[in-house]
Amino acid sequence: MTQTHTCERCGSTAPMQLVACPRCHGLFHAATLTTLSSEADALQKHGDVLGALERLRSMEPLLPPTSNQAVQLHARITALEPHAGKQPRAAGRVPKWLAGLGAFGLALWKFAGPLLVLLSKGKLLLFGLLKLPTLLSFFVSAALWSDGGTRGIGLALVILASIYVHEMGHTWAFRRYGIAVSAPMFVPGFGAFVRGAHYPKSAQAAGDVALSGPVWGGVSGVLTLALGVVLNQAWLVGAALFIAEVNLFNLFPVWQLDGSRATQCLSKRQVLVLAAVGLVGGALAGSPMSLLAGAGLLARRWVRPPSGQGDRRTFIVFLLLFAGLLSLRLGSQLVMSFR
Ligand SMILES: [Zn+2]
Ligand SMILES: [Zn+2]
Repeated sequence: MTQTHTCERCGSTAPMQLVACPRCHGLFHAATLTTLSSEADALQKHGDVLGALERLRSMEPLLPPTSNQAVQLHARITALEPHAGKQPRAAGRVPKWLAGLGAFGLALWKFAGPLLVLLSKGKLLLFGLLKLPTLLSFFVSAALWSDGGTRGIGLALVILASIYVHEMGHTWAFRRYGIAVSAPMFVPGFGAFVRGAHYPKSAQAAGDVALSGPVWGGVSGVLTLALGVVLNQAWLVGAALFIAEVNLFNLFPVWQLDGSRATQCLSKRQVLVLAAVGLVGGALAGSPMSLLAGAGLLARRWVRPPSGQGDRRTFIVFLLLFAGLLSLRLGSQLVMSFR
C-alpha cells in the first residue's frame, strides 16, 4: 500500500497527510467535498440543521486550513450554529414512542409536555454516570471530600452531585449544537470536566456551552436549599451556600474555566459591566468568589481582552448568573441566621 496521493490535475505525487497538491493546489478530496456540500445544502433546506452541520464539520479536515474554501466553510458553520441551538429538540417535537401511541400520545404531549421534557432530561442526567472512569473518579473525589463521618459523606455526595449536574449543563449544550461530548471525569479535590469534540465557532453557541454549566449548577443549588428547608437540615443549607460559591468561582475568567470561555464571546464594555456587577454584588453579599470573578473580569478588560462585537445573549445570561448565584448565597445565609 503506497502512502501517497497522485494528483489528477498535474500528476505529481504527495504524502497522504496533505489535502491539496503542493504543486498545482488541486484538492485531493474535491469529489467528497462536493458531495458533502450538496448533502449539507439539501439537509439545511429540509430544516435538519444538525445534519447539515455534521456534513459541514466533516469537510473541515479535507481542506487546507488557510484556504479560501476553509474560511468560507468556517463562516458557514458559524452562521448555522445558532440555528441548531434554536431547534427545539425535546420541547417541540413529539418523541417517537409517544407519537406511536397515536391521538392519545399527542394529547398526553399537549398537557404533560413540560414534565416529559424534564423526564427526558432526567435520562440525560444519568449520561455517563454508569461509565467506569466516571464512577471511579466520582468515588475517589467523594472519599477526598468527606471526613469519614456520616454527615461528611452526605455533604461530599451532595456537592459532587451538584458538580455532576453542572457538567450535564455543558453536555446538554454541546449536544444541542450537534457536538459529541465525553462522559464527565472528576478531578479529586478540584471538580469535574467534560470534553467536547471541539468548541462551537459562533459566539452565541460558545457562550451557551460555557454558561450552561453554571446555570444548571445554580439550579441544583436552589434545589439543595429547598430540600434543606423542607427537611430542616442545616448541612444541606450550608451545601447550597457552598454550591453558590463553587459556581461563582467558575465565572473567574482564566484558564479553562467557564468564565474565560464566556468572556471571549463578550465585548470590552460588557466585560466591564460584569466586572462591576461581580465586585459590587460580591461586596454586598460577602461572597469571596464573586469578588474574585469580578476582579478577574476587570483585569480581562485589558489583559487579553475580547475582540468581538459581544454576544447579547451570553451577556444577559452571565448577568443573571451573578444575580442568581448571589441570591442563592444570600438565601442560604438568611435561612441559617433564622436557626
Ligand atoms: Zn497537482
Ligand atoms: Zn463548567
